[in-house]
Amino acid sequence: MSGLLLKGVSKRYGNGINAVSNFNLELAKGELTVLAGPKGSGKSTILNIICGLETADEGEIIIDQQNCAGLAPKERGVCVVFPSHTFYPGHTVYENLEFSLKLVKCQKAERRERIMKTVEALGIADTLEKLPEELTPAQSFEAILARAVVREPKIILIDEPFPDIPTEEQELFWQAMVDLNKKFRHTMIVATNNPEQALAIKARTVVLKNGYIQQIDAVDRICENPANVYVAQFINRFNMTTAEAVLSENEAGGLSLLIDKVSAEIPVIAPENKKLSSYIGREVTVGIRRSLLVPKKNAEQGIKGKIDEVTEENGVRKGMFKSKLFDAEITLDDTMKKGDKVALQAVEGSIFIFDRDTGKTIL
Ligand code: ADP
Ligand code: MG
Repeated sequence: MSGLLLKGVSKRYGNGINAVSNFNLELAKGELTVLAGPKGSGKSTILNIICGLETADEGEIIIDQQNCAGLAPKERGVCVVFPSHTFYPGHTVYENLEFSLKLVKCQKAERRERIMKTVEALGIADTLEKLPEELTPAQSFEAILARAVVREPKIILIDEPFPDIPTEEQELFWQAMVDLNKKFRHTMIVATNNPEQALAIKARTVVLKNGYIQQIDAVDRICENPANVYVAQFINRFNMTTAEAVLSENEAGGLSLLIDKVSAEIPVIAPENKKLSSYIGREVTVGIRRSLLVPKKNAEQGIKGKIDEVTEENGVRKGMFKSKLFDAEITLDDTMKKGDKVALQAVEGSIFIFDRDTGKTIL
């Protein structure tokens, strides 16, 4: 069953900015989807349109099969969690949760029941008598999620949940959202400008650019098969960098990418591909996943450079590869040492080829 359906939603602000254009998305009831894109790509606008804080110029919003046209925000059953949301200081977590329920005219006995059910499921019952200022950042976030859950919404929208927390400390937070979704089965959208968060949440992900959807898929599949150079650069797995190249036939009868700037030749590892063949002799954009490349000594082909700054940790030797095209950390074999000339070789999955004009993925 559909939990949320957005059909052809567009929004242009008074200043002439098209924040969202022809946005189409369906979430199954209980599904968690990540909306990912850099600042200004339209994420908040979409969320505001869903909850009714903004009106779309075009399109339909359908929540649990009900069309939201003409419905006020409080009639939609949508709860939005913003990072700036905090609790009233000087009041316990319980009082804060209860206050949120008083707003929706929930009776006292039911308030208690809903609060207990929620905090027990979330495992934060021991924070009820604490003041907001006594909570750890993670408890505080869970309590804010709890405040949304007690309202028993149909949809929970979370906008940039943790902008100020370092990525390595965010695990508890995104785990809290994933757990919340598993336990309560709300239809949920989490908006983030941080691709690492999208990868960590591991849900279906929508990548946005200037209000246009670029790709919708499981985030792992987006990594494997980015639709275009924009998506590949945004998600940026394996330290991808781009360069301009010409696709040419090589002596071995296969295809090579020639990067003029550094006179590198990279053989293309791919089965015969009609689409790719049509690009022979043309300029393309090549996406190189630096950390997947493999160094080789005395190689004719590949991206040529020198090894610098060798380090060893737990028996693994690493070096900094330096070339005119880029620097990259590489894993060395026993024979490689500082100062050696090596050429980086592409392996399957380390190279993408994009149409230079449209940015669309060819390979
Ligand atoms: P995101 O949440 O991805 O950062 P937003 O939805 O906030 O993106 O913004 C999308 C675009 O719309 C941006 O170019 C932004 O400057 C513009 N925008 C957002 N809100 C308004 C507004 N109230 N009035 C005018 N322009 C806005
Ligand atoms: Mg935003």
